[in-house]
Amino acid sequence: MQGVKKSNLPSKICITCERAFTWRKKWEKNWNEVKYCSDKCRMNKKNSNISLARTL
Ligand SMILES: [Zn+2]
Repeated sequence: MQGVKKSNLPSKICITCERAFTWRKKWEKNWNEVKYCSDKCRMNKKNSNISLARTL
């Protein structure tokens, strides 16, 4: 039997896609700094920031 309680895991809202995502093992060291649900969203945010900076 696995003792994983999914409902007890913390979750956040991704600032790029605004979807809820759940704590993952790979974030255990930096969960407080995690803002994106995936690398894809992190890239998207980065790209949009660059284009926004150019526009401004
Ligand atoms: Zn996302």
